[in-house]
Amino acid sequence: MSVINNNFLLLERNYLFAEVARRVKEYGIRSSGNSVISLGIGDVTRPLPRCAVNAIEAAAAEMGRAETFRGYGPEQGYLFLRESIARYYSDRDVSLDIDEIFISDGAKSDLGNILDIFAKGITSLIPDPVYPVYLDTNIMAGNKVIYAEACEDNGFLPMPDYSVRADVIYLCSPNNPTGAVYNSAQLRAWVDYALSVGAIILFDAAYERFISGDLPHSIYEIEGAKECAIEFCSFSKTAGFTGTRCGWTVVPDALEKEGVKLNGLWLRRQCTKFNGVPYIVQRAAQAVIDGEGRKEIDVNIDYYRGNAEIISATLADAGVPHWGGKDSPYIWLKCGCDSWDYFERLLESAQVVGTPGSGFGKGGQGYFRLTAFSSRDNTSEACRRIKEFYASINSAYKR
Ligand SMILES: *Cc1c(COP(=O)(O)O)cnc(C)c1O
Repeated sequence: MSVINNNFLLLERNYLFAEVARRVKEYGIRSSGNSVISLGIGDVTRPLPRCAVNAIEAAAAEMGRAETFRGYGPEQGYLFLRESIARYYSDRDVSLDIDEIFISDGAKSDLGNILDIFAKGITSLIPDPVYPVYLDTNIMAGNKVIYAEACEDNGFLPMPDYSVRADVIYLCSPNNPTGAVYNSAQLRAWVDYALSVGAIILFDAAYERFISGDLPHSIYEIEGAKECAIEFCSFSKTAGFTGTRCGWTVVPDALEKEGVKLNGLWLRRQCTKFNGVPYIVQRAAQAVIDGEGRKEIDVNIDYYRGNAEIISATLADAGVPHWGGKDSPYIWLKCGCDSWDYFERLLESAQVVGTPGSGFGKGGQGYFRLTAFSSRDNTSEACRRIKEFYASINSAYKR
C-alpha cells in the first residue's frame, strides 16, 4: 500500500507560470537584458483603494488597544462583512441569508477545499481551456475528469450535453483565460441541466465586477440555481486584494444531496480546518464593497478596461482574431501557430510576454492570453511593439 498520495504524480510537472518565468529569465541572459514587458501573469497592478487602506489602519489601531482587541473570529467570517456581501447581492435582486455566506482567504483556497465535502472518485466536468486550479485539485483528489470543449464555434462558452453525466460542473464566467461571459439564457440551460441530472455547479465569479454589459454577475440571478450551485467570489481582481487575501463562498441552504444540506457540511469543514480571515482584512473588504468603496474599485477596473481597449484595438488593426477584453481583463488571441512557439516569437521579436493558451488545457492550443493588468505606459509600449511585430510578419508575407 502506498503512503503518499500518488495522485500528485499525475500532475503536470511544471506549473504554467513557473515555465513562463523560466523562459523569460533564459531570454534575459541570452539577450543581455533587453527590456521585457509582461502582459502575462494574472495579477493586478493598481494599489489598494484608499478606503481599504484607511480601514486597515483603523482596524490595526483597534487591535492594539485592550478594549477593542480581537482574538479568534468566527470561522464563517464576521457578521459585518457577511451583511455587506448580502447587500451587494440584493442590489442584483439576489436575496441571500447571512448563513449562506462564508468568508474565505480567497477563491482559490475554497475552490480546492470544496472537494472535501464530496466523495473521492466523483466525475467532474471542467471547461477546456480554463483556470488550471479546477483540474489540478481534481487530479489530487483522484477524481475522474471529463471536459467541456470551449472553442471558436461556441464562442468559448461550452453548453450542456445531456448525453454526458457529471457529479460536479465547473463554470467560470467571465472566463479566465478566454474572457467569454455566459448570458442569462446560457446559464439557465446549465442550471436546467444540473437540476435534471442531479449535478452540482461550482460557479467561479472572480471576475464578475469586470462585466460592463447586461450579463449575469451571479449564478443566483438564474431561478433554481440555489438548488444546484455553489458560488465562489473574490476581492482579488475586483479590489486589488491578491496580496491582502479575502473572498467568499455561497452555499445555499436549499442545496441538498442525498437528503443532506451541503451548507452544513461546508460549515463543519470550515470550523474544523479553517480559523477565519484576519479581522483587519475583513474590515478592508467591507470598506470596498460598501457604498462609496465600490466607486473606488470601479475607478481601478475602468483603468484596466482602458488597457484592454488599447490591446484589442492593436490586434484589430493588425487583423488578428481575438476575443474577450470587454467584460474581463483578458484578451484571447489566435496565434496561427503553436502557443509556445508564438510565446518565443513574441518574446524574441517584441520583448513582450504573454501566456500560452495551451497552458490552460488542450483546447487552448493555438491561442494566447494577454492581460490588461499592467500600467498604461507598459500597455501602450507593448502594443507599439506588437504592432511592429505584425507589420514585419505582414510585409514578409507580401514579399
Ligand atoms: C485569480 C482567480 C481566482 C482567485 O484568486 P484568489 O486570489 O485566490 O481569490 C479564482 N478564479 C479565477 C478564475 C482566477 O483567475
